[in-house]
Parts: sequence; C-alpha cells; structure tokens
Amino acid sequence: MNQQGKISFQKSTLLVPENPVIPFIEGDGIGPDIWSAAVKVIDRAVEICWRGKRHIIWKEVLAGEKAYKRTGRWLPRETIDAFQEYRVGIKGPLTTPVGEGFRSLNVALRQKLDLYACVRPIRYFPGVPSPVKEPQKVDMVVFRENTEDVYAGLELEAGRKETRDLANYLRKAHGWDISRDSGIGIKPISKSASQRLVKAAIDFALSKNRRSVTFVHKGNIQKFTEGAFRSWGYEIARLDYRDKIVTWEEIQESPPEGKLLIKDAIADIFFQQALLRPEDFDVIATTNLNGDYISDALAAQVGGVGMAPGANINYHKGYAIFEATHGTAPKYAGLNKVNPTSLILSGAMMLEFLGWPEAAKKIESGLEKTFASRKVTYDLARLMDGATEVSCSHFSELVCENMAKG
Ligand code: NAD
Repeated sequence: MNQQGKISFQKSTLLVPENPVIPFIEGDGIGPDIWSAAVKVIDRAVEICWRGKRHIIWKEVLAGEKAYKRTGRWLPRETIDAFQEYRVGIKGPLTTPVGEGFRSLNVALRQKLDLYACVRPIRYFPGVPSPVKEPQKVDMVVFRENTEDVYAGLELEAGRKETRDLANYLRKAHGWDISRDSGIGIKPISKSASQRLVKAAIDFALSKNRRSVTFVHKGNIQKFTEGAFRSWGYEIARLDYRDKIVTWEEIQESPPEGKLLIKDAIADIFFQQALLRPEDFDVIATTNLNGDYISDALAAQVGGVGMAPGANINYHKGYAIFEATHGTAPKYAGLNKVNPTSLILSGAMMLEFLGWPEAAKKIESGLEKTFASRKVTYDLARLMDGATEVSCSHFSELVCENMAKG
C-alpha cells in the first residue's frame, strides 16, 4: 500500500497509508487554542503507539473568519475539494456568518459532502463534575440524521408573496388553514435517508457488541415524518439484519444472548428516561432536530459540551469530518483557557475510524489519568473539589505525559 498520501476507499473499506494526509480547519474563536492542544495529543498518541512508523501529515484548509479574511469567502471551494480528495478531516468550531448565503458553515459542509450521519458518543470520565448522581451510567452513541428534517433549510419568511402563495395552495389543495402572518418551514423525512442512517447505527452497534439500538422520534404527533422514520427503521432492521436482531415486540423479557435489541422511544419521554434510567439506552438513531437536542442534553450529564466529541460521516463514500461539538466561545478566544477535551476526543474518534484504535485508547487513558489528577481547565476546576486550574495548553501537555506513562 501507498505509505504516504491519500486515504482511498475501495469495496466499502477505507485504505489508510502509514502517513496519511489529513486536512484540518483550525476554527474560529477558541478554535486555534483547542486545535493546537488537540493536535499535540493526537500526534503524541500516534508516536507512542508506532514510534514514527505511522505519522499524520496535517494539511491546513480554510473556513470561517480566517478564510474570509484571506480569500473573501467563508467556505472556499478548495476546502470542500480537499475534504473530498483526502476523505477524512477534522475541524474546530466555526462562527456562523450572519446574512451570508447560507445559515451555517457546518450545515453547508455536511450537505456538500453528504455527511449523512452525525455520530456523538457520550461517556463519562471518572472525576469529571456532573449534575447527575450516577453519570457513569451514561454510555450512549447518538446517530443523528444530518441531511433532512427542518435543517434542510426549506423555509419561507412570513409576509412574502411566495409564502402567501404556498399558504393559498395548501388551503386549496388540502384545506389547511395557515394563518396569513405565518412563516412556513418544510420538514422532509425520506425512507432512503432514514434507512441509511438506521443501517449506520445498527452496523456500528453490531461491530462494537452494543446491546440495543433505540429509534427516538415524535411519531405520535408527526405520523408521516417522525412516525415513518420509526416504521422504516424497524422495516430495514428486519429486512437486512433478521438473524442478528430482535425487536421489542418479539420478546417478553431480556433479548436472547448475542442478539441486538431494536426498540423505540418517543422523544419527550426519552429525555426523562435518559435522566432516570440512562442504563436502558445504548445506541440511539434519530432524526435531525431530535438528535441536536439529545446530543447536547446527554453531554450535559457527563460534564457538558466541552467534553463531547462528534463526527459527520458518509459511510457509503468513505468521507468523515470529526469536530468539537461546542461553538467558538468568542469571549475566551486566544486566552489559552478553555477545555480542549471535545476536540481531543474527536481526534481519538478519528484515529479509531482510520483503523488505529490503539492510539484512540491511549488518548482515552491519558484523559482518564489527567481528570483523576484533578488538574483541569477552568470550566471543570470551578466545579471540582480540590482541583488545580491549568491552561488549555498545559492540560494537553499533562495528557501527553500521562499517555507516555503507559
Ligand atoms: P459556544 O459553545 O461557543 O459557547 C457557549 C459557552 O459554553 C461559552 O461561553 C463557554 O462558557 C462554554 N464553552 C464552550 N466551549 C467550551 C470549552 N471548550 N471549554 C470550556 N467552556 C466552553 O456556543 P454559542 O455561544 O452559542 O456560539 C458561539 C458561536 O459558535 C456562534 O457563532 C455559533 O454559531 C457557533 N457554533 C459553532 C458550532 C460548530 O462549529 N460546530 C457549534 C455551535 C455553535
């Protein structure tokens, strides 16, 4: 195999050279602080595991404020081309430009590369302050559909002629009485997008020996969108995984040994159950808006968005962008103060995706030891008894030292 250069994708498999080129976007606001902390940890983990045999060649690409200053564009074509060419990349948070051609650079990147699965693992690191009594019971991976739903950007503003025309059409065709001063948004949920997301969640659950996949939806109210998501989920589970799964309706008690349980929950009760009985949930497959709320709510249980990694993935084409799940926190920009864990853990997810799980595990154990030593950034230090506050860069140095200790 080619030892240096581009990752390729053949027969549904990612082929990763020993020295892959990986594009990165530093990000806006606190982006440069957390990126320089995270890249040190990622490189050190690879170095410890393979002593130079493997090494990532980082390639900076521009997006956000840095791109706008240098090129006059928020998301240059070359950036999208680089992610397409090199397949796997990583990014810090980006400012959402107000009044530009698109609402969010993140949404634009996800749509342009058809990164249909937003994957967010949520697990607890002992010692990290949490608002719940038993945060160690939270161990879930959320698969959020990333291309449809009210995020598709299909909205018309109140008061415009085209909005009134659509309301008139809907009144005539369906008898829908939409108030004349309404804005109108469209919520498309397709069978194809729902089933490819559900398949990604089930494939992941099977490959990692997880116990269950829960479809979270509002199908009791939105029958033909959220309800259809649920029905299509069960349909594809039974069609494509018949001998590997068992559904809720088919069993009285625990699922038989070795079978993945497929179940569902209505979104509002899910929020309650995730707090009261988090151990009942494992892999979650859900629609776009539900997934957005759920990921941040679960992250809060394990210490907040500063702790939660994320990835946007197209499993069919072999494209993935790993990212910090929080925003640019502009008031902390350049202060070397914030918590880089979200981006560090996103880097660990990326290493796992590359087929380098040894390095991902190194990072997790380095973080575990650092949290246990109570030397943490301000956000955790203020909530932790006996903690020593350290800077963003110092925190990453401590993680590197702890990784080296074995
Ligand atoms: P935010 O996540 O940037 O910050 C909210 C607060 O959370 C901060 O003030 C800070 O107190 C805390 N915080 C966030 N990250 C932290 C970290 N790593 N360590 C410690 N504390 C941290 O959310 P916001 O203020 O709503 O958004 C600011 C900007 O970020 C907006 O332009 C928004 O569009 C953008 N944004 C980008 C992404 C992304 O790129 N994926 C995600 C969310 C928001």
